[in-house]
Formats: sequence, structure tokens, C-alpha cells
Amino acid sequence: MTGSGANADVVVVGLGAMGALSAWRLAARGATVIGFERFRPGHDRGSSHGDTRIFRTAYFESPEYVPLLHRAKRLWQQLENESGAELLTLTGGLAIGRPEGQLVTGVLASARQDNLPHRLLGAAEMDRLYPQHRLDAGEIAVWEEEAGFLRPERSIEAAAARAEDLGARLMTETEVTAVKASGDGVVIETSRGSYRAERALVTAGAWTSKLLPDLRLPLSVERQVAAWIAAEDPTAFAPDRFPVFIRELAHGGFRYGFPTTDGRSIKVGVHHEGSEADPDSIDRKVGEEDLKPLREFAEQYLRGVTTNVVDASVCMYTNTPDERFLATSPRDLPGVTVLSACSGHGFKFASVLGELVTELMLDGRALPGIIRTA
Ligand SMILES: Cc1cc2nc3c(=O)[nH]c(=O)nc-3n(C[C@H](O)[C@H](O)[C@H](O)COP(=O)(O)OP(=O)(O)OC[C@H]3O[C@@H](n4cnc5c(N)ncnc54)[C@H](O)[C@@H]3O)c2cc1C
Repeated sequence: MTGSGANADVVVVGLGAMGALSAWRLAARGATVIGFERFRPGHDRGSSHGDTRIFRTAYFESPEYVPLLHRAKRLWQQLENESGAELLTLTGGLAIGRPEGQLVTGVLASARQDNLPHRLLGAAEMDRLYPQHRLDAGEIAVWEEEAGFLRPERSIEAAAARAEDLGARLMTETEVTAVKASGDGVVIETSRGSYRAERALVTAGAWTSKLLPDLRLPLSVERQVAAWIAAEDPTAFAPDRFPVFIRELAHGGFRYGFPTTDGRSIKVGVHHEGSEADPDSIDRKVGEEDLKPLREFAEQYLRGVTTNVVDASVCMYTNTPDERFLATSPRDLPGVTVLSACSGHGFKFASVLGELVTELMLDGRALPGIIRTA
């Protein structure tokens, strides 16, 4: 399939969530693939570390994501089967907030439109079923069945390993310094020399705009902090008793959390509300100011957790203005496709986006309308 003079059909730049999953799908289709990663798959410097990522299906952002989520789930399970690694744990999910809030109305609209298994839970039922959550007067919850959590580092390692099994050549600790159109293909300049390919897929996460500044992509990078807070009785927060959750606060902000995966603490995070960041100079130290909203949230809304933060980590959101994902093949850079599944909700889609971008690049198949193409 690879044309004369080219090292590969497709070069993948950046082997985080989007790159590793795309490399797996491209290699599964028989494309010859070379992937470059400046660190190592599963590292903690980008947007895909921190042990867990929420998977959910009743999608408050838009019901248009639901068909993609059904396919994403099947592909995650396929990757589990092929790799033998446990990647997706279904716990159910809770969306908590005021009935008229964006979260609850959006989850309900999506669940009803797509007939997704769900239940409305009032304060009394929440107290009985999920006493770990403290509801304010007037708040309710929507429980949905098709939700849980993915293991990001493990998923990326599994996808990268499967891509290699299928013939992809993945070069780690190799930085791509330039991606250029050239005649009938692309040239990729790296810290280990130049490569030619028919096409390039740029999945460089928070570094995308730095690598391709001339494209002026609508991406901005935001610093995010998550913390692991010790539980008084960790068994009350086990995955079979404590579903993943998102909560919309009275001021409209979002908090989210997971059951325990280490048997002692639960991870909680703030969605957005972070400062703008440069991926090369971001402050990776977590300070008291970072932890304050998380401690306050846990103290006010969770029962059975302590104030003891046992771990914390800094991560990056790469945002588009409307929080839709970006997959674009810019006219100014022929042969190059950029994929950024971003805005803090992209991990769960990495499997299906890898497949969709493969079909775009190999078959010219159009992307679903919910994905931004510019
Ligand atoms: C704190 C936090 C919580 C989140 N929670 C959720 C959630 O619950 N559910 C959900 O679905 N999503 C969630 N997300 C979003 C999701 O994790 C991201 O959208 C997704 O991981 C982004 O993947 P990516 O491949 O674009 O970026 P990354 O995984 O960061 O991959 C980019 C890769 O490119 C490499 N790279 C960059 N430049 C170069 C170069 N020049 N040469 C070689 N390699 C390069 C980087 O080293 C990196 O490995 C969350 C994100 C954060 C930060």
C-alpha cells in the first residue's frame, strides 16, 4: 500500500489517547503506520494520566454523541479482549444537580431520546441508595446504567501494543519538530531524522498548536487538578457501591468523582475553572489553592471522606470554543489531518475517534456532524 519513497502510509504524531487508539485502528485496517511519541505511551505529562476517566452514555452535552458512545464502548471492549487488559469498569453513573440545571436536563433529554436505561432519584432514594452523597434541598440525581470508568494509562499502553502487534512501528522518546506537505505526501522531521509518508495524523494533544502554529487552530490549553482524598471506610466507595458521578453546583460549576481504585481514597476533580497554560512551562506542582475547591466540595457534599489528600496531579485540557472535538484536514497542509478530542471529555471517545479518523483518512468517509472540521 505504501507509495514509492514513503516510509509509511500514515505517520501518527503523538501517541497519547488519540494517537495510540488511532494507530491501533489504522494498523487493524492494514495501513503501514509509524508513530512518534516524545515521551513513552502512558506517561504523565499530557492529558491522559491520573488512573481513571469517566465513561458515560446519556450525554448532557448533546444526544448527538450517543451513537458514537455506543460504538466507543464496543471498541473499548474489543481492545480489552485483544489485549487481555481490564480497561472499562461499568459502575453506573450519577448526574446530580438541580432539576432545571444544564446537567440534569441534558442527561434526561439524552437518556429519553435514545431510550437509555436510567432512573430519577430524589433525596430520599439517594439517601437510601447512595448515602455517600449529600444533596442540597431541591436537588435530584439521574442514575444511568451505561457509565463507569476507563483506565487511561493502561488503555494507551494496550492500544500501542496492539498497534505494534499489527505491524505498526512506534518510536518513543522521539520528538516531532515539523510536519510539512511535500509533493505527493508529507515529511515529518523528528529528533531521530526525517520520515516521508503519504499522510500524517497529528494527535499531539496540548502541543498541537505549538507544532502547527500556522494553522491557527481554535485550541486553548487549560491547567486542571485532580486529588485523591482518603475515605473513612473505603469499602463504602468500592466500584460496586459508588458509581462515577458528575455534580453541577448552584453557581453552574461542575465537580466529578470516581469510586476507589486503590482501596483507600477516591479521586475528585473540578471540570474547567483552570488557568490558561503552556504545555512546556505549566506549573506541575499542586498547591493549597488548587486543593481548596476539592476539599470544600468533599466536605460539603460527600459523607465518609476525610480531609486528608493522599495524592494530586496536574493535567491539561485542550479546549475548543464550543467544546466539540476537532478533526480537520486543513487545505493549507495537504495530507495532514489533526485530531484533538478535547475540552475535558474526550478520553471515552478515543476508540471511536480512532476508527472515524481511520475511515476519513483511508476511505474519505465524512465525519459525523457533531465533530468540528474547522
Ligand atoms: C484532569 C482531566 C480529567 C479528564 N476527565 C475525563 C473524563 O472523565 N472522561 C473523558 O472522556 N475525558 C476526560 N478528560 C479528557 C481526556 O483525558 C482528553 O481529552 C484526552 O486524554 C486527550 O488525549 P490526546 O491524545 O488529545 O492528548 P494526550 O493523551 O496528551 O496525547 C498527546 C501526545 O502527543 C505527544 N506529543 C505532543 N507533541 C509531540 C511532538 N512534537 N512529538 C512527539 N510527540 C508529541 C505527547 O507527549 C502526548 O503523549 C480529562 C482530561 C483531564 C486533563
